[in-house]
Amino acid sequence: MNKKLIKILIGIGCFVIVIVVGSIFFFKNLISLKGDEVVQVALNSNYEEKGAKTNFIDDDNIKITGEVNNKKVGTYKIKYEVKFLGIKVDKYRTVEVVDREAPELTLKGGETVNVCGDAKYEEEGYTATDAYDGDLTDKVKIEEKDNIIFYTVEDKSGNKTTVRRYINRDDKEAPKLTLVGSETDSVVLNSKYSDPGYKVSDNCSEKVDVKVEGKVDTSKVGSYTLTYTATDGVGNTTTVKRYVKVTNNTNKCVIYLTFDDGPSKTSTPKILEILKKKNVKATFFVINHSSSLDYLIKQEYNEGHTVALHSYTHNYKTVYSSKTAFYNDLEKIQDKVEKLTGVKQMITRFPGGSSNTVSRNYQKGIMSELTKEMKEKGYHYFDWNVSSGDAGGAKTSNDVYKNVTKGISTKRSNNVVLMHDFENNNKTVNALERIIDYGLAKGCRFDKIDMTTPMVTHGVNN
Ligand code: ZN
Repeated sequence: MNKKLIKILIGIGCFVIVIVVGSIFFFKNLISLKGDEVVQVALNSNYEEKGAKTNFIDDDNIKITGEVNNKKVGTYKIKYEVKFLGIKVDKYRTVEVVDREAPELTLKGGETVNVCGDAKYEEEGYTATDAYDGDLTDKVKIEEKDNIIFYTVEDKSGNKTTVRRYINRDDKEAPKLTLVGSETDSVVLNSKYSDPGYKVSDNCSEKVDVKVEGKVDTSKVGSYTLTYTATDGVGNTTTVKRYVKVTNNTNKCVIYLTFDDGPSKTSTPKILEILKKKNVKATFFVINHSSSLDYLIKQEYNEGHTVALHSYTHNYKTVYSSKTAFYNDLEKIQDKVEKLTGVKQMITRFPGGSSNTVSRNYQKGIMSELTKEMKEKGYHYFDWNVSSGDAGGAKTSNDVYKNVTKGISTKRSNNVVLMHDFENNNKTVNALERIIDYGLAKGCRFDKIDMTTPMVTHGVNN
């Protein structure tokens, strides 16, 4: 072959290559998409056709086919086609219609619910709907953790919705615990004591635990306390007590001598001396006096008497100005007595008695409220049913004697005698021994008030 021919052949070869490559390049670039090759369109939003362009001929020659249903999740193809010199050239765009909208989950009942104690939360219901998948209520998954309920639902496209419900287990209400039978009870020595029991209920818990502590030893005369404690599911407790006296006394008549307003330097020692001589126990409703008389309170206690609470100030205006003032006063004398005797005393007597009318001047209705509340707080308040008159009408020891002996009923198991322990109360001091002799002669027993003593109370007048 000659060199010339080779050159021609190379020339032709090059020409063919240029033509082929050029054609490929030309047709490949004849049409191109505007915008991305793959586009996503949210369900129900419009697909915007951006079209295509051609680089060598008029764009109007591009034929677009294919449809996008924006109401239906799926993949759609759009075809762009152009013809040139009888050759068809096409390009495709992929359009994905996707559901990006999460289902809607609605709770019935509150977002925060109160559940009693340890009780189970009763599901109040919910609904779940998805704009695309429709009702998904059946697909809701429920999980409870740390008192939060999680409701989760997922649609077919994987969109999730979680809603929370908060359980508030705050049970602040303590169980209701009441005694069957009397709060104060008695039983004769060496007989059998049977506890009449209690009733218990709770706002929440079905199971309330009740413990009874204490025992009544009927082989031994004395005062016994039974303590009932009810505990609900979250630990709220209520305690009530029953006071039981074991007595060897078959006499019906019991006399409780009570001395108010002491101690006093001149009268208390004399009263104590007589009581000791007659081996009689009594009850002193004390008020606050100079600490130089504290030894008398200690002596009353040490000699076996009951030191009970009357008032700190005994000032009606102060004590009955408000309930707060009343309790402040009461707690002050309670603290003082506790310091001197070691006993947190719950036996009280209202200044003027619960039937007083003087409190009307300071606070209307205060006695009605206090008498109710005091019982609820566990206090036992005592009025009296025998009055000696030693703070008023009685002028002589004979008057005191007559008033008391007239007032005592031998048929009564709770003669509560009101007397006073103020300075130089000689009429009472001088009548005391005779009164005791009278009671003993009538077959009565003298006793001090304790928590087992049934309350003696007046009607309230304010
Ligand atoms: Zn008084």
